[in-house]
Amino acid sequence: NVKSTGGNASLIYDEKMADPAFEYFALQGEFRKALIQNQFILHYQPKVNIETGEVIGVEALVRWNHPTKGLISPAIFIPLAEESGFIMELGAWVIEETCRQIRAWKEAGPFNIRVAVNVSVRQFIQQDVVILVKETLKKEGLPPNCLEIEITESVFVKHENIIQDAIANLQDIGIRVSIDDFGTGYASLSYLKQFRANTIKIDRSFIRSLPEMKDDAAIVSAVITLARKLNMDVVAEGVETKEQAEFLLGKGCSDVQGFYYSKPLPAEEVPKFLEKKSGK
Ligand code: C2E
Ligand code: MG
Ligand code: MG
Ligand code: MG
Repeated sequence: NVKSTGGNASLIYDEKMADPAFEYFALQGEFRKALIQNQFILHYQPKVNIETGEVIGVEALVRWNHPTKGLISPAIFIPLAEESGFIMELGAWVIEETCRQIRAWKEAGPFNIRVAVNVSVRQFIQQDVVILVKETLKKEGLPPNCLEIEITESVFVKHENIIQDAIANLQDIGIRVSIDDFGTGYASLSYLKQFRANTIKIDRSFIRSLPEMKDDAAIVSAVITLARKLNMDVVAEGVETKEQAEFLLGKGCSDVQGFYYSKPLPAEEVPKFLEKKSGK
């Protein structure tokens, strides 16, 4: 039952990705209808401080609940949406839906954690994310500190000034900004200096083989030290084992995210998860 359990879903889309008959490009023609028909859904993965046990936030992750293909991973359709320009509509929907959901959570009970939204560099170039965020917060009557933006880099940035200004403008209105998947792709050291984000998220590929793999261990501890020296927060993503968590804590990284703590959860399971955590 893919729809109701956030967790088991990954199995299904990994199989789809490996299937050469899976028609990636046909999906592009279905985007608009899918949005109108509410086929996109958000799941929310907790970020946990393993020192205190507190949930420090959740990250909104989009899925496509396709009528015939099942639950499709954003790893498949986000690149297609970027290519076709649909990312602007989808990105706006993700921000709006996230803010609607935060308001719903707040109306149902205490809810004081930050919700992170992924925004790709392409989106910043193609639309005014800052205005969109500002207007959506206003519409839902939410304070800016309930939102965080994670910037993911997948293409070479020719428009660094646009990104730099957007980050500064988001921070000016009280929204925190993270550099996602740090250490991979084009997310380089020079970004840290130029973009002045609040948080570095260490990519899962460096966490996977911890603590045995010496090279990864060296890179991860260096990034943690670097973050501290630059006065930035650091979050490790993709933590799947107790050993990985212990290694990270030992190096001074207490904020983590990963299947060991929780898979991305459907919206209705988030309050229960928060309650369970704060109750211990
Ligand atoms: P990301 O932002 O780096 O998100 C983390 C991804 O790693 C998620 O995959 C999450 O389910 C997965 N993950 C988390 N913990 C673990 C773990 O312990 N082990 C393993 N194996 N995986 C883990 P997901 O949801 O498939 O998202 C993939 C990527 O798609 C995201 O990577 C993000 O770059 C992009 N994405 C997702 N939602 C959006 C969105 O709304 N807008 C944009 N622009 N991109 C999005
Ligand atoms: Mg992210
Ligand atoms: Mg990431
Ligand atoms: Mg990632």
